This record gives sequence, C-alpha cells and structure tokens, in this order.
Amino acid sequence: MAKKKERCSFCGRERDEVAILLNGIDGCICEMCATEAHRVIEEAMSVGAKANKPAESIDYRTLPKPKEIKAYLDQYVIGQDDAKKFLAVSVYNHYKRLSQENKNTKDDVEIEKSNIIMVGSTGTGKTLLARTIAKLLKVPFTIVDATVFTEAGYVGEDVESILSRLLQAADFDLESTQRGIVFIDEIDKIARKSDNPSITRDVSGEGVQQGLLKLLEGSVVNVPPKGGRKHPDQDYIHVDTRNILFICGGAFDGIEKKIAQRLNTHTVGYDSVQNALKIDANNLMQYVQPTDLKSFGLIPEIIGRLPVLTYLQPLDREALRNILTEPKNSIVKQYVKLFEMDGVLLEFSPEALDYIVDKAVEFKLGARGLRSIVESIMMDAMFEKPSEQASEFLVTREYAVAQLEKNKLQSAGLK
Ligand code: ADP
Repeated sequence: MAKKKERCSFCGRERDEVAILLNGIDGCICEMCATEAHRVIEEAMSVGAKANKPAESIDYRTLPKPKEIKAYLDQYVIGQDDAKKFLAVSVYNHYKRLSQENKNTKDDVEIEKSNIIMVGSTGTGKTLLARTIAKLLKVPFTIVDATVFTEAGYVGEDVESILSRLLQAADFDLESTQRGIVFIDEIDKIARKSDNPSITRDVSGEGVQQGLLKLLEGSVVNVPPKGGRKHPDQDYIHVDTRNILFICGGAFDGIEKKIAQRLNTHTVGYDSVQNALKIDANNLMQYVQPTDLKSFGLIPEIIGRLPVLTYLQPLDREALRNILTEPKNSIVKQYVKLFEMDGVLLEFSPEALDYIVDKAVEFKLGARGLRSIVESIMMDAMFEKPSEQASEFLVTREYAVAQLEKNKLQSAGLK
C-alpha cells in the first residue's frame, strides 16, 4: 500500500508544496498556517491584555465639584445655565457612585445611575456640552448618531456598535471604557413613528429603543471590537454598561406643542391661563417633562432610564454675538490665531460682528451658521495675506458685506 502523503492539517497543502511542514502527534502544520496562527494569537492577546488590566479607581474627592464643573463649562459654552447645572450635578454624582462601587463597600444605600437627556433645538450646544465635560473628566468619550441604528437583522448598525466606538476611543482599555461617557445624538429620531402598529415594521424606531434600553439599564453586552454587524464567528469583548454614563440629546421638533397642550394652553390665545401660571410662552422648552417625551414617541422604559431631563434655550442674538467672541476657543479667537501665525494682527470691527450675527439669524442656522459665514468672509484674506507684508488687518462691516455678497453670487453661479 502506498504511503499516505503528508499534508498540512490546516490548509491541506502537501509537503512538496510548502517550505516547512512541522509534524505533530496527529497532524502537521505548514509555515504559512503557523505564521497566520501566530498573527491571530498576537492580536487576540493584545486586546485581551488591555481588557484585563486591573481597575484604576476613580476617587470623587479628586474630581471637580459641581460648581467647578459649571465654571469650566462656562469657559466654552455660552448661556444654557440650567443644562450646565443639571449636567454638572449628574456627572459628579455618577462618579461618586463609581468610587462607592470601587471600594466594594457593603453599604445598603446603592446610588443609582442617572443617565441624562437634553432637549433643545439643533446648534444650541448639546454636543458641545457633552464633549466639554468629557474633556474635563478625561474619560473616554464618543458621539453616536441614533439615526444610523436599526433593529438587529435590518440594514444599518446594531446598537452594540456604540460600545465598539467607546472601546476604540479608550484604545481598547476595557476598564476605562466601562466608565466612559457616550453621547447619543438625535435620540428623537428613534421615536415611535405612530401609536398604531403599521403595516411596515418600525425597524428604526421602537425596535432600536428596545435595543438601547439594554445598554442604558446596565448589562454585560457582547461587543464586536471592530463595530458593524454582529457575526457568529466573531470574537466579542464583554462590556459591562453599568457604569457608562449615557447622555442623550435631541431637537424634538414640535415638542413645544405637546408641552403647550399639557399646560392646557395653545401657542396663541391663552392670555388668562398664561397669566395665571406665569408661563413664558416664548420658551416653552423649559417646562419639558418626561410625559412630553412619551407623547413624542419615546417608550416609557427608555424615559425611565434617562431620569435627568434638562433643556437648552434657543440662542438669541446676544448669545450668538457672545459665541463669536467669548468662549476660550471662540471662532474669532481661532481666526486671530491663524493670522497671528503669519505675523498679521487681525481684528473684527463690532459692526462686522453684528453683521455676521444678523446673517446667522437670517439664515436660521443658529450657532452652526456662524462659522461658515466667517469662513466665507475670510477666505480671500486667508488666501492673500500670507504672501503680503501687511502687519494688520481690520475686518470692517463693508468688507464683510462685500465678501459675503461676492461668495453668494459665486455659489449661485452668477459670477
Ligand atoms: P447641537 O448638538 O445642540 O446640535 P452643537 O453643540 O453641535 O449643537 O453646536 C454646534 C456648534 O455651534 C458648536 O461647535 C459651537 O461652535 C457652537 N455652539 C452652539 N451652541 C453654543 C453655545 N451655547 N456656546 C458656544 N458655542 C455654541
């Protein structure tokens, strides 16, 4: 009987097809499969090693106090005092709760996690607040957009991919991931579309809310390290979400109507009730209550897991004007810095700044519009000034008007 040819038990190549074939008790491995096996092991070990790093405890006494947190936020975010206060207190309490857990004290008073939900029109500073607070606390932070999620099994992303991103932000350090902050933007977009179960399935609404619930309430979730869809052959990292702080934000367009209904008023013609309750009809958002979120289409279980509810004010002219110049890294300060690097002293006249605010109000873009307006005004100067010998440059209202008009014509293809 002919002797059976030796072959690699992994890829099936025969001895004369490979450079090296190592013999084991019941099989063989070729140099290519051995190299591949080595790579896989290295990768798994590096993720595993970071995942098993011992806990670094957080001591809340070393953390800034709520007032200090607010003062820090004040440097970057204009106005929104209520939201800042709510955020400062909840974040402080959250890390108090963490340090209690780290000590493993057998205390019967268990502090519950308080995830936060912020309601306010787009461009009022929700993301900026969350980002700034994460910078202060030096914890891993990620922003996700709720609109990309769909129920498992449909085109889109699984909600677990939120945690993949947090893991990436923490450089796969499981310990710090587990006490990070996640900002879920556009949470209002996963509101239930209607009260009636429709003929088409609501795969990006209630289904996603149910998925999210699991993360918010705190459980151990299998997370694919690279994100995307879950896959049966994948290795998972087990992430405990109990100590992850979730901050949700949404514009909840039209929620004022629901608030007005609840307050038993209407946006027009409610003088008597308004006077009786002293309701500020121009800013109904400040009266937002969990039941309004329910009327909007969030399921009660989700609302229950977001116990801290706060709101952001619409930005008025004065706020927009301050946003241009006041924050530590305000738009104007950033341009001054850019010009300074070319030895040019840049200044904006107060009238030019007023004009920029006027345009932002006119375009209805809120604070988001300020940057693009300034960018458009400054483009020519940024192109020319570095090659000129000028030592200073004043942006006047006339210059701003001319530049913006010119760019508007250009973008309309008229010039
Ligand atoms: P939102 O998340 O509410 O839609 P963002 O926080 O993303 O809005 O705001 C967009 C941009 O507008 C920010 O990057 C910031 O430059 C500016 N901005 C918005 N609100 C404020 C504010 N209250 N103070 C300072 N800058 C703000």
